[in-house]
Amino acid sequence: MLDLKSLYVHIPFCDYKCGCCGFYSIPETAESLHRDYLSALQNELKSFDIDEDSLETIYIGGGSPSILSEENLEHLLGIFTEKFSPIEFTIEMNPRQLTRDKLITAELFGVNRLSIGVQSFSEKSLEVLGRKGSRREILNALDAACDSPIENLNIDLIFGLPNQTLEDLEKDLDIALSFEPGHISAYSLVVEQNTPLGKSVESGRLKLPGQQLDRKMYEHLICRLEEEGLYQYEISNFALPDFECLHNWNCWRSEQYIGLGASAGSFYNGRRFTNPADVRGYIAAERNPKRESAALTEKDYAWQTAVLMLRTNRGVCAAEFSDKTGFDFEVLFSAEIEKNINAGLLEKTVSGCRLTPEGFSVADSVSREFVLD
Ligand code: SF4
Repeated sequence: MLDLKSLYVHIPFCDYKCGCCGFYSIPETAESLHRDYLSALQNELKSFDIDEDSLETIYIGGGSPSILSEENLEHLLGIFTEKFSPIEFTIEMNPRQLTRDKLITAELFGVNRLSIGVQSFSEKSLEVLGRKGSRREILNALDAACDSPIENLNIDLIFGLPNQTLEDLEKDLDIALSFEPGHISAYSLVVEQNTPLGKSVESGRLKLPGQQLDRKMYEHLICRLEEEGLYQYEISNFALPDFECLHNWNCWRSEQYIGLGASAGSFYNGRRFTNPADVRGYIAAERNPKRESAALTEKDYAWQTAVLMLRTNRGVCAAEFSDKTGFDFEVLFSAEIEKNINAGLLEKTVSGCRLTPEGFSVADSVSREFVLD
């Protein structure tokens, strides 16, 4: 029996492909295909023997889970509520597809956390991202979310967009905060090659703000969100106390998880698995999609654990690290720790060490320094 805390479910359908999108999703609205996909998900779930009592979180992401018809949404949620009673049950919703009826269905089936992919309230920015929809649609969706009984609301934002100014970001934050979300995820734009946005940036038609402005925006949003009581508990995630995302928290503590669905990744029993990014192949494979799999050595796992824990405000807890990996963090990474402490990017804590505020701004490059032979 698999003792794991988190289950991820990938719904790889969208009604169109955004110009910035690097996720595995296909523009496909046919309800019959969605239905077949849900049956395949149900079969894949049956192939795992998961300890019902250990499972803390279910996260349904995509793609756009909210593209499903109400009937299909009920089917999807029923697959999981029939078997599990997680502490945290999240579903992502696209503002253009969110309806009050879908929210009622979600709540009836035990969903207690909504994550709404806003990205920006500025129509200029939405156009740059190649996202359909208007500011009005987003505001209506957030109004509906605030009226629903699901009180735990996350809003996703992106900053560092071509042509975006600090004032534009400030307006996005003002509007987002006016809905009083318990959680905001704010990511600096990652330009994916081979997307329409990537090509526009590559050709020079769109210009990114530059490192200095991007950093200024990041620092600004940290201050602004902290002023409103949403503290930074991970590089890109901010929450009121008790509204942290438990699902992501478990991933950053390097816990085992299973991902169901096309392209979904899993990590359990010391191996990483990835399902093929192919909806029709996934449906045809029934309960045994041909997963790619790679074993992690003990040192690989120690590296993964250090890098994930460093993403969080708590940083690496040496005792937890040693329990999980069998290694002494300070011995295994002594050179990296010393170098980054001297550079002002890491600091010691009572339980281990964590990134400093300067370190958070360059977290990816600090992580790259953590290498093992
Ligand atoms: S809605 Fe999200 S997953 Fe779908 S295409 Fe747009 S960015 Fe990608």
